[in-house]
Amino acid sequence: MSIPFSVVQKQRLREIGLSGEILDQEFKDSRERDSAFRRIEKMATRKGRMRIAELQETRLRPVLCELESCLVETLTNAGFVQVVTPLIIARDMLTKMSITPDHPLNKQVFWIEKNRCLRPMLAPSLYALLRRLVRLWKKPIQIFEVGPCFRKESRGAQHANEFTMLNLVELGLSEKEREARLETLVGLVMEASGIKNYHLKTKPSEVYGDTIDVVSDVEVGSAAMGPHRLDAPWGIFDPWVGVGFGLERLAMVSEGFQNIQRVGRSLEYLDGVRLNI
Ligand code: ATP
Ligand code: MG
Repeated sequence: MSIPFSVVQKQRLREIGLSGEILDQEFKDSRERDSAFRRIEKMATRKGRMRIAELQETRLRPVLCELESCLVETLTNAGFVQVVTPLIIARDMLTKMSITPDHPLNKQVFWIEKNRCLRPMLAPSLYALLRRLVRLWKKPIQIFEVGPCFRKESRGAQHANEFTMLNLVELGLSEKEREARLETLVGLVMEASGIKNYHLKTKPSEVYGDTIDVVSDVEVGSAAMGPHRLDAPWGIFDPWVGVGFGLERLAMVSEGFQNIQRVGRSLEYLDGVRLNI
């Protein structure tokens, strides 16, 4: 009879970044198993210590921060203007996105007062800005924001309560250009993220009707196009394309990590390394 790693051993190995076949090994007895556990733990711990030491010595920045900088540069070079909007938004902004009390996403919102919440997405703020910018700028108008968003989540390895969204939108292109443009923009972001394997997949969304997901094993982004039924209340009438990416998801995929905790805001991990090693 053979035995697997214990639950506690597996948990520890996952914490320090191991996954897949290595966790599913079987052993002839507990002595053999425990010695394999110690050997694997020691190796992974050493690797983690080297990465942490490197962070101090070379002042490398955590992968999430590097990714953010790289994407800002890529989009700026592609003609997009970065915008910065409030983290706290009004209930009306969500209502205008059709997120009313009976909407599934409403349950995920962190309300800080009756009519104010931590933003669960960037789209309402970008809509509000676009309405003003169409009066001031010539088209096409290209803007993006990158920053924290908040959602109450109960699901594990791919969801965090606070995460970093990158949302870009281009307004004022012709309707027939939209699909190709969307593919180009997604391509820019994926290339800058160092992810070659991905595909686009159309699926129904609770907020936007149909959305086009960017999938690389997990969903890393969701795109939509206008004219759209949500546009009119925001005073938007031109065709547009937009995509929202989760930076932690992009970082997870590019680093080959199985758990979002390793790349997100954390007191337990720094740059993907568990600190109790
Ligand atoms: P999922 O179906 O994976 O829960 P979603 O479709 O609800 O995601 P969107 O509203 O499409 O998410 O948000 C755009 C992107 O933001 C997602 O593709 C994902 O990369 C990221 N994202 C959304 N929620 C979270 C979360 N809780 N933690 C980390 N990233 C998230
Ligand atoms: Mg989505």
